[in-house]
This record gives sequence, C-alpha cells and structure tokens, in this order.
Amino acid sequence: MTGTVGVFALQGDVREHLRVLEGLGVRARGVRRASELDECDALVLPGGESTTMAKLARTFELLEPIRHRIGAGMPVLGTCAGMILLADRVRDGAAGQETIGGLDATVRRNAFGRQVDSFETDLDLAGLDDPVHAVFIRAPWVEEVGPGVEVLATAHDHPVAVRQGNLLATSFHPEVNGEDRVHRLLLDLVQR
Ligand code: GLN
Repeated sequence: MTGTVGVFALQGDVREHLRVLEGLGVRARGVRRASELDECDALVLPGGESTTMAKLARTFELLEPIRHRIGAGMPVLGTCAGMILLADRVRDGAAGQETIGGLDATVRRNAFGRQVDSFETDLDLAGLDDPVHAVFIRAPWVEEVGPGVEVLATAHDHPVAVRQGNLLATSFHPEVNGEDRVHRLLLDLVQR
C-alpha cells in the first residue's frame, strides 16, 4: 500500500500498532497533532484508557480534525479503548465522557466484568479463514448497533468486532500477539 497509516499517540499502546503496521511494509507514524493527521490516509486508535485519550485529544485539538476526517471517509481501526472512542454512545462511561464517534453503536466499557476482567480466546472473524487469537484487557463489548453496522465476531453473546463503512472496531487487542490480519482489513479499506 502506498500512503501512511497514523496511530493516535497521545496515550495507549502505540508502539505495538506501529510494529504491526511496519511489519506489513506500511509507512506508519504516531499522530499527536492535527498537522500529523493531515499526512495520514488511515488512522489507528489504540487500546489504552478511553477517558484519558478523549481528554488529551480535546486538549491537543485533535478531536474535531479526526471527526472531520472520519466524516470525509478516512479508514479508522479502533481497538479496545479505540472502539470506545469510535462509538456514538457509551454505557458505564465516566461522567461526561466524550467520544470521537462515527460508529453507530452503543458500547459498554469494562463490559466483561471482574471474573473475566482479562482473557484470551480464539475467535472466528468474518472474512478470515482461520480464527483470530484475541486478547481482551478490561475490554468493552457492543450492545446495540445501527443498521449500517456489520458484526464480524462475537464473544460472550456480544459483538466484539464490527465494521461500518470505513470504520473497523475490535474489543480485543489484535496488536499484541503477532496477529496482523485485522490491520490488513484496515489496509483493504484504504485500497478501496
Ligand atoms: N477499560 C479501558 C477504557 O475504558 C479500555 C481498556 C483497553 O484499552 N485495554 O478505556
């Protein structure tokens, strides 16, 4: 792929995403300001802490530029906290928790609860031949989706991977265990 994939780099597991993207032979860079976003053809919103990420995005004046680019069709992959940031509606969010939005879905933060706070499992993901080894860390799940949202994978009876047009979101962390097929799905969206 020609072009550059940005990784939102104000907070979260930025380095892991950069490593996967570079492993795929893609030009990848951290994004901390709007001028850096301008240089990107796609964006990854990593795992981390969604409340902190949203606050920093507001402080660094990245919130509106990302919203604008999403509206203009830029492909975005959100993983875990990144899924929360993409969602239009959040349950169990912090008071006044803001999101970037764009994904017509309701996402519940820390949804899996204390017993299964963090866990790993193999998941079938629509479009992939072999299961994905999925690592969940205080992960959200999806509770409601609008008509334009396609569910790609479920766990514990809830969607944990979804796609809506140029937006792709997973509850789990595809960047931590050598998996690169979810990032490839993002690159497919860039090629289109
Ligand atoms: N629980 C975190 C949040 O609400 C997400 C956890 C993660 O990204 N691993 O933002």
